[in-house]
Amino acid sequence: MDHTPVWVYAGRLLAVAGVVVVAGAARILPAESTDWALACTILVAAIAQFELTRRLHAGRDDETGGGVTAAWTMAAAIAVHLTLAIALVLVLHLYRLLRERHGGGDLFDAFTGNASAVIAAHFAASLGAWATPSPQADTRGVIAIAAAVAAWLVVDHAVGLLRRRPSGGAADLGLDAALLATGAIVGALAPSGFLVVFAAVPVVVMLHGAAFTRQLADEASVDQKTGLATAAHWQAGADHAFTEGRGPIGVLMVDLDHFKRLNDTHGHRAGDDVLAAVGGCLRTQLRGIDLGGRFGGEEFTVLLPGADVADTMSAAERIRTTISALHVTTVDKHGRRVVISDVTASVGVAVHPYDGATADECLRVADSHVYQAKQQGRNTVVG
Ligand code: GH3
Ligand code: MG
Ligand code: MG
Repeated sequence: MDHTPVWVYAGRLLAVAGVVVVAGAARILPAESTDWALACTILVAAIAQFELTRRLHAGRDDETGGGVTAAWTMAAAIAVHLTLAIALVLVLHLYRLLRERHGGGDLFDAFTGNASAVIAAHFAASLGAWATPSPQADTRGVIAIAAAVAAWLVVDHAVGLLRRRPSGGAADLGLDAALLATGAIVGALAPSGFLVVFAAVPVVVMLHGAAFTRQLADEASVDQKTGLATAAHWQAGADHAFTEGRGPIGVLMVDLDHFKRLNDTHGHRAGDDVLAAVGGCLRTQLRGIDLGGRFGGEEFTVLLPGADVADTMSAAERIRTTISALHVTTVDKHGRRVVISDVTASVGVAVHPYDGATADECLRVADSHVYQAKQQGRNTVVG
């Protein structure tokens, strides 16, 4: 937040002003007392869910936190006066700010994104209900709910693109849609009985639990130090490629040279930074269908589906030269800034089907080639 340029703040204030103007212009009529009562009920349910979810995910930076308010603000978008719905978004985000005590800038972004989605869902719901030819309330309700969810997802996606937020893929979209549909149904039913709002609390808590489980699974498949696949995840990907794939598959084993010496000279913190740099280097050198993994310690594995002997050899050579060209700026064991530029790796190559029928066989051959590369003086490719 400290280094945020002034124009960003100005833009943010303009955004809030815009939200308030649109909200005010949307419905000049003051909210009715039932609106206030329903908005307060939704607020209480949202806080109850937030506290329950927080307890479940205690002590963690919860990336699913951004969606914490979605179900409830969607309910408000459909059930109460738009100005009150926006006020609810604001209060919930302030509540989060107070409880989490971090990420003020993120929360501001979350607030404007959430408010925009609420406005879109509100109008889509009214349009959806109005556009239905059938006078039956239930058909109108279903169309209104679907329109609101769709409008929300579109606006949320657009805001995500503007902020260059990474997209979570189909599974995240499914969870978002489930949360939003729950919120929209609550919004549609709530005016005829406030209790439905509280009945939805366990449902929303469980949906957040599902999102959280997915987040844990993602974390388990990515090595934290290097950003590459964990050994188990790489193995699963390799096994899949070998059983499903047709054509050749390249396998590389990359072992950093004299890494123990590097640790002894500069310290483990520097060693870790070098591992991270090598991880980044592998990630930039690989194609989308390739899979780079951390086998363990200072050893990496690379899977190159469809790569023949020539492709695999040239990938290995490219990786070797890029690693040897690395300049890693880090801190040594005395706390001094140091640039490490003598990182090299020995690379062993194996290609399916010539070197083996399974991932394990190819890995064993690649490993023996690493051993030969070490004997030949390191910083070399053997295949
Ligand atoms: P060679 O050229 O023969 O491969 O020598 P080497 O020193 O790289 O190989 P060796 O297997 O003897 O040592 C590997 C070292 O890698 C030992 C260990 O301390 C270090 N290491 C393994 N994992 C990590 C890690 O996560 N962080 C850091 N900093 N060092 C690690
Ligand atoms: Mg090793
Ligand atoms: Mg080594």
